[in-house]
Formats: sequence, structure tokens, C-alpha cells
Amino acid sequence: MSVDERGNKKEKKEKRKERNIIQNSEFKTQNIVVLGAGESGVGTAILAKSKEYNVFVSDYGSIKDKYKKVLLHNDLQFEEKKHSKAKILKADVVVKSPGIADSVSLIKEIKAQGILVISEIEFANQFTEATIVGVTGSNGKTTTTLLLSHILNTAKLNVGTAGNIGDSFALQVANKKHDLYVLELSSFQLDGIVKFAPNIAILTNISPDHLDRYDYKYENYIDSKFQITKNQTANDYLIYDADDKEIQQWLNKNKTDAKLLPFTLGNKIEKEGAYIKDNKIIIELKNKIITMGIQNLALLGKHNVKNVMAASMAATLLKVRKDTIRQSLSDFEGVEHRLERFLKINGVQYINDSKATNINATYYALESMNNPTVWIVGGVDKGNDYEELLPYVNEKVKAIVCLGKDNEKIKAVFSNVIDLIIETKGAEEAVKVAYKIAEKGDNVLLSPACASFDLFDNYEDRGRQFKNAVRKL
Ligand code: ADP
Repeated sequence: MSVDERGNKKEKKEKRKERNIIQNSEFKTQNIVVLGAGESGVGTAILAKSKEYNVFVSDYGSIKDKYKKVLLHNDLQFEEKKHSKAKILKADVVVKSPGIADSVSLIKEIKAQGILVISEIEFANQFTEATIVGVTGSNGKTTTTLLLSHILNTAKLNVGTAGNIGDSFALQVANKKHDLYVLELSSFQLDGIVKFAPNIAILTNISPDHLDRYDYKYENYIDSKFQITKNQTANDYLIYDADDKEIQQWLNKNKTDAKLLPFTLGNKIEKEGAYIKDNKIIIELKNKIITMGIQNLALLGKHNVKNVMAASMAATLLKVRKDTIRQSLSDFEGVEHRLERFLKINGVQYINDSKATNINATYYALESMNNPTVWIVGGVDKGNDYEELLPYVNEKVKAIVCLGKDNEKIKAVFSNVIDLIIETKGAEEAVKVAYKIAEKGDNVLLSPACASFDLFDNYEDRGRQFKNAVRKL
């Protein structure tokens, strides 16, 4: 359904028919195999069963109790700690968890047999007529998705938020009747699409990430992100960061049918889009002009100005009133572990940005620091080029506290500009050290630029341990 012609049911149906890969006449699917019994896999299985397919769920690891209960409760056939190949190869369609790489031998074998392998998003999309906003990018997906959902909820639209967030898209399609979905889409989910086309796509930015899943070729990762627009038509929209050179380069070389809506921190755009003038965000769209003072935004930092532009443009396309958008932007509280200013002790502001697992996210965190900062950094580095951070580190950082098993690269890059670099091996130790160094008016920022697996379960665990340690001070 096009955003402009919402309510035109005939067109909607035609388009759905065209997009439908599983139920068309040439291809009568009976057997669906779901690989991976996490949130997306279990949701897919429930939806597939409700549509009367034969469903078999297979997980090579052990299935979490929570999901096992749901599978049993719904009388779904499943196996764990193995893949029964003979059974799996009988599938007409395989729906693969985003966590399973295409390079896994089982997936190669399935594909070699000519069996279609798709993602949950592709599968579930066929069973809903809802308008869809898809949000992808290297950083800012969750923030933009939740911010847009907040605006749409405030506008009292019947919206479901899914993708990497909350209940899976498939489960929501099976159980609820939303008119609208905002989906956070990782590149892995986009790799498994065939005909999926969001009515509104948001591409927040592109910087190197997850290259291990893309043969260490950056161009493959970039192409994967642009899958979000590959099936879009002239009725759809692509909202994107016009300041991002990878995005611009791709758009110069490739074609999309979607209408382009750029946003920029610069002070002009060619036609419709969003830009900055006199410290105000200006959105020119659909013959309307919306202005918003940056000082009224609840979220801080230039990266969040971009997220606000993207979410506001999508909300405008969905016909949300200006006042509702402005109101929602000033009362959105932000998301845990993303530049979360959670406590001030003795005049020192503690900030948890544990979700910053790459250089680009940390770049914007440092950019947004207005006071001298004790910076806690480190973990599992995915090939980081720390030099990019040097200008902000020079300007804003008074000491570095390393929080990782191997900190050699960090020490090598920053020892020329920062006198005080201290290595620690746990959140509590890092916080105690930072507490000793920080003075009234300073910030203590955890923005690791690295994954967390050397010392923590995941980024949430790292963020929580950091906050608990600060609370204990
Ligand atoms: P994602 O879901 O894409 O990982 P999040 O919204 O969870 O993105 O934010 C991840 C990290 O990136 C956080 O440290 C956050 O402060 C930072 N960030 C958020 N939006 C942007 C953006 N537009 N550009 C760069 N970094 C961002």
C-alpha cells in the first residue's frame, strides 16, 4: 500500500498478490522449516501454523525454556541441539534466523537443493496489509525506531513495533491487527528478503560493521543495507542521511524507484527533505514546512538530531500533525544504554553508552560531550580505526580508562595525546578509577567502541554492571 494512497484497497491487493512469493499458484508451499528457535523463529512458527502450513522448527543449540514452552503450548514440532538434515531438506521454504550465516554448510546445502531460504520479515510481510516503515543503518536503528513509534503512539495510531525489538513481527502479524508497523531491520534480516518493500524506508547511516558475515568486503555490507529499497516502487519513500558518503556514493551509482527524502546537518536540500537553519530543524515535505528548535529536543547530540529528522519525516508522511511531532520529540526519554545520562554524583555526570560497539557511535558520543570527560573504552575490537576519534579525544577527554582484555591498540593511538591511560578488567574497577579522576563538572562516559564479549555477556550486561557500580559509589 502506498503511503499517499492509503485506503485504496484494490491497489493494495494487487500489490500484495505481486509481492506474494509463497502462496502463488506455481509454488504451493506445504512444508515450512524454521531454523533457529529464538524470538523470530518461534513467531514465524506460530504464524505459519496459523496459516495451516506443516511446520518444523530446528535449532542447533539449546532452546531457551521460555521459547520451548511456547512451542509446546502451540503444539509445534521441534528439535534442539541438532539439525535433522533429511527432514529439513524436505522443506518447500526455509525461514532462517538472522543469527545463522549464509556460509554455514547446512544453508549452502539447502540452497543447492533449490529450496528458498528467506527471513522472518519476508515471511510475515505476506500476511499483513499494514503500512510498513523499515529502519536500517549501522547505528541509530533502535533509537529511530522507538522515537518514531513514540510519535505514532502519541498520535494514537494503531502501531506495532518489531524487528529487533520486543515481540517478533511474525508473532504480531499472527496475533494482532496493527494498521502500521515500524520495523528495526538488521542487515542480516535484509539479506533474507525477496519481495519485501517497506512503504517508508529509513537508512540512518553506514559505517563498517559485521564484516565477518560479508567476506570482509565492505561493499557487500553496503549492498545488504540497500536491500531495504530494492523492491520499493515510485509510491514508496527512502529517507536517508545525505551527509553519509557511502550512501551518497551508492545512490550516485545505483538506482532506486523510491522517492528520495534526504536529511542533512547542512543548511540546504535540493527539493524535499530536512536540514538545519539558525539552530532549527527545518522539514520541507508535502508542501508543508515544519520547524523545530534543537534546544527543545529531549535527545542530545548531533547524531540524535539526524534520528529526529528521519523519524519526523516518516511521521509527517504518515500524516501526524506538527504539534504532536513537536510534543513527542520533547518528551521522548531516550533508550537505555544509548548515551543514557543516568546519575550525577558530586557534580560528575555519569553516562552509559554501552551500546556504542563501533567507532562511529563513539564518535558521536564524544562529539556531544560539553565538559571534560573521563572516557571508559575498550572490549572486543572489530577492526577499529581509533585515529578517527583523535580530534574529539584531544579536545574533550582528560583521561582514558581501558575496559578490555587487550588494550594495546588504544594505548598506542592515544598515549601521545592523553597522559593518563589506566587499564582495568571489570566495570567496578573502571568506575572506581574514573571516580577518583573526575572532578566536579566533568563527565564519566562509558562509550566502548567495542563489543563486550571479552568481559561481559553482552552490551546490556556491560551497561548494567557499569550503572550498578556507579550506584554503589
Ligand atoms: P542500533 O540499533 O543501530 O545499534 P542504537 O539506537 O541502539 O542503534 O544506538 C547504538 C549506538 O549508536 C549508541 O551508542 C547511540 O548513541 C549511537 N547512535 C545513535 N544514533 C546514531 C546515529 N544516527 N549515528 C551514529 N551513532 C548513533
